[in-house]
Amino acid sequence: MIKERAIDEETPEALRRAIERLEREVSQLRARVAASGGAGREVAGRQLAQEWLRIIASALENAGEGIMIMAAAGRPFRLRTLYVNEGFSRITGIPAGEAEGNPLKLISVRPEDREVMLLARRRMGEGLRFAGEVTAIRPGGQEVALEMQFVPVRDETTGRLTHWVAILRDVSERRAQMEALRHQALHDALTGLPNWSLLEDRLRQTVLGSARRDEVAAIVMIDFDHFKDVNDTYGYAVGDAILREAGIRISGSVRATDTVARVGGDEFAVLLPAVGNRDVAERIARKVLTAFEQPVDVDGHKFDIAVSIGIALFPAHGSDGDALRRRADIAMYVAKEAQAGYAVYSETSDRHRSGYLAVAHELRRAIDGGELLLHYQPKAHLRSGLVTRVEALVRWHHPERGMVPPMQFIPLAERTGLVKPMTTKILDIAMAQCRAWQAEGTPISIAVNLSTRTLQESFLPELIESLLDRWKVEPQFLKLEITESSMMSEPDRVISMLEKVHAMGVHLSLDDFGTGFSSLAYLRRLPVDEIKIDKSFVKEMTRNASDAEIVRATIDLAHNLGRQVVAEGIEDADTWAMLRELGCDLGQGYFLSKPLPSAELSDWLRTTRMGLARNG
Ligand code: C2E
Ligand code: MG
Ligand code: MG
Repeated sequence: MIKERAIDEETPEALRRAIERLEREVSQLRARVAASGGAGREVAGRQLAQEWLRIIASALENAGEGIMIMAAAGRPFRLRTLYVNEGFSRITGIPAGEAEGNPLKLISVRPEDREVMLLARRRMGEGLRFAGEVTAIRPGGQEVALEMQFVPVRDETTGRLTHWVAILRDVSERRAQMEALRHQALHDALTGLPNWSLLEDRLRQTVLGSARRDEVAAIVMIDFDHFKDVNDTYGYAVGDAILREAGIRISGSVRATDTVARVGGDEFAVLLPAVGNRDVAERIARKVLTAFEQPVDVDGHKFDIAVSIGIALFPAHGSDGDALRRRADIAMYVAKEAQAGYAVYSETSDRHRSGYLAVAHELRRAIDGGELLLHYQPKAHLRSGLVTRVEALVRWHHPERGMVPPMQFIPLAERTGLVKPMTTKILDIAMAQCRAWQAEGTPISIAVNLSTRTLQESFLPELIESLLDRWKVEPQFLKLEITESSMMSEPDRVISMLEKVHAMGVHLSLDDFGTGFSSLAYLRRLPVDEIKIDKSFVKEMTRNASDAEIVRATIDLAHNLGRQVVAEGIEDADTWAMLRELGCDLGQGYFLSKPLPSAELSDWLRTTRMGLARNG
């Protein structure tokens, strides 16, 4: 009975062979019975049945598969275990004595496979055969890949379902082999990282998921600068070692949920799902750059590795994986050609790529080559007229275009990795100037503007510390002007960094106050000593009552919080007088002086004899 139902193309090979052997023996037996006559025939019949059972039992017992035979008592799930073979216990870890009832309840599986078991149950309920694969969990917790078949056995004459046979096979090894193959197909052999096929697949899924959840994702392309030279000069073994180390450094710079892939010879990519916003993507790019600041050591030789990074964001820069990769590539080339470290894709850089590139390239040169300089604009105490502070404002002295104002190149620096070198340069010039004025006997404090991006990087405290030390400048002579917009993303991070700088004794000033939105909420938490009322309010305040009201309210608010107030953009005597009337602490603007080159400012300070500036 069993043989006729159980054997077909889905029956495991070993069992099939065992059954075929049986069939041969049985037909020989049948032939013997047929040959004998009368009572001898009956005896021979009984012998046949017993022999039959013995052979079957031995075949079942020795089969490599796990076999369980159950009697179907009435309803489909009233199953009574008649028999389990040794294989069953070996594969499932369930001792023969405990293998009772329904195998679907007996065998526990991984949660994700519960549906397979439900399906099996449904099919069995309908009296249908079922075959499927699950990961079963043995009583000891060990996992086993299980191929299962449940085969109904029916009475030959009535067609009634009488038994179920469960055939189980341990396919862990086969599955491991398949997984190894799959891994091989989707990973890079050298670094063990995902390859482009796998990344592409994840990118596609990320795009779908992000669109559904309204999230921002980023793809980051990382390319080595001049890697070919390394290979050509030192050979592939060195190149390979460097690539392996690169994979480790990149992976160490991102979250576990990000995918780092090697997508070309010296090209890596990182997929950042749910990155939140562009700032976070940029921060990760900077982290990767930092990871390559230390040379790579191969057999005691040190190699300086430079990378260029391009970032494209979903959905801003593309709606599918292909477009995103292309644009991250464009951004990467922009970063590479400008030696900017990283760049975020922008339509302008794409459309005017050559122009944009040229300017980024020039800016890089300007920073290194001394084309950046600072002009200084004095701030005076409104009551006494005393000038003890200046604000440093950067200028780019372009060989052909002349003096370029900051608004024309700071945004470019912010979109590329040039913010750090630029900030470093500006702070260095300012500290050197501060030292020089002190040596001249004019101790004056300098306020330096910080770009929004600078505050999102972690290099600032260390940089400031080293520059103060280098130029032997007391920290209270340095003031940093920050804007509210730098607080918009990740305020906690920014605030904690500002606190670090403030704790060093450096003063902080909140610039352009009133133009942001979050001012009041953050003002109390910010470790700023001074608030600068934006010139847009100051400009009209003598003619526009509501502007005057805003200025008055800001002064009161700042004073209540124990902060000093500076009004910027004062262009005439009336405004100056009005602000002094309102109790504003300091004033700055064309009325007092335009920003001046350092030598001219020194003259200005001498001629106005400091304390007498505009003191009505
Ligand atoms: P800010 O920090 O608010 O600087 C004040 C701006 O107002 C300066 O323009 C200054 O020249 C201008 N200004 C001063 N007095 C008057 C006045 O009486 N009337 C008018 N209409 N304007 C006046 P500038 O130098 O073009 O700088 C513009 C912005 O560029 C600055 O705004 C600051 O945000 C940024 N910036 C300047 N230097 C640097 C720097 O070294 N680093 C960074 N990251 N940003 C800088
Ligand atoms: Mg400023
Ligand atoms: Mg300002």
